[in-house]
Amino acid sequence: LVNGEMDAEAVLAAMEDSGLRGLGGAGFPAGRKWRIVRDQPAPRLMAVNIDEGEPGTFKDRTYLERDPHRFLEGMLVAAQAVGIDVCYIYLRDEYHGCRAILEAEITKLQANPPYPLPKIELRRGAGAYICGEESAMIESIEGKRGEPRMRPPYIAQVGLFGRPTLEHNFETLYWVRDIIEKGAAWFSSFGRNGRNGLRSFSVSGRVKFPGVKLAPAGITVAELIEEYCGGMPDGHQLYGYLPGGASGGIFPASLSNVPLDFDTLQPHGGFIGSAAVIVLSQHDKARDAALNMMRFYAHESCGQCTPCRVGTAKASTLMEAPVWDNTTLEDLNVVMTDASICGLGQAAPNPVRCVQKYFAHEVS
Ligand code: SF4
Repeated sequence: LVNGEMDAEAVLAAMEDSGLRGLGGAGFPAGRKWRIVRDQPAPRLMAVNIDEGEPGTFKDRTYLERDPHRFLEGMLVAAQAVGIDVCYIYLRDEYHGCRAILEAEITKLQANPPYPLPKIELRRGAGAYICGEESAMIESIEGKRGEPRMRPPYIAQVGLFGRPTLEHNFETLYWVRDIIEKGAAWFSSFGRNGRNGLRSFSVSGRVKFPGVKLAPAGITVAELIEEYCGGMPDGHQLYGYLPGGASGGIFPASLSNVPLDFDTLQPHGGFIGSAAVIVLSQHDKARDAALNMMRFYAHESCGQCTPCRVGTAKASTLMEAPVWDNTTLEDLNVVMTDASICGLGQAAPNPVRCVQKYFAHEVS
């Protein structure tokens, strides 16, 4: 790209054709995002999200510890193709080991640059879940409280320090090198059940071998557990699962054959998010998991808007009752979904609604 052997347009086309989508949770097509930011006036900035705060998600850390340069190369390719002046990397503060790795490898890169590099700044997060939300992360990088911004304007137009900003999750950039080297068709050749691409599932809970599992998009949780995780531990049967961390809902075992991917889970009241799959057995209770998550939301709500700040606290109190007051809970669900500023408050009712829909016997 630097030598002109491949032009930026070819890189953008490869990214678009691969079908790669943002792997931090929102799933926006990566190539389209590059084109939108490239069309904005310079100077343009990049913000890389390695906050990895979604409960159950650990794929970014796993890849960063093993192959930091695949990510750094992807970041630099994006910077070159889009025309980025400064790359800000926002790293979860609890990832001390990753920080040591990144500092060492970035120093090496800068000491012997393969071409005039964009400026690279490594910033530490401070432990707030909400700073994984792209605009809250940008506020945090700017040195302010991590509170999500109202949109529009979108950060592709008015982002970090008021400049057009390309925001990416770590793993999205991690795949860029392979897509450019092996071709868009390579990435999209994977997939099952009519879906395309690869997904890195962070699998935890009741499986024999938890961990990061690189599997075809569209795989079902039943297939994932059997083929990639060695099955359920002895004495455990699948009772339910969380397909996308805390915010992606709680599904019963009867939905174990739904393809796991963007857009496939919404009809059932969930979403894949960052592909953090948490497996539950008959020794767990969905209502306990839902309460745990609502307490987490109440703790992590940034407090900027009332439906989320008050709604999460009120809901977690109501969810402690042996029999749920479903009318009041549904009132809160509607207000939080409709009137919260960001995804935290909007998705907070998901676990509640899933328990009401699939595990009603536990709360009635
Ligand atoms: Fe903050 Fe919650 Fe409102 Fe998001 S929905 S801006 S986390 S109070």
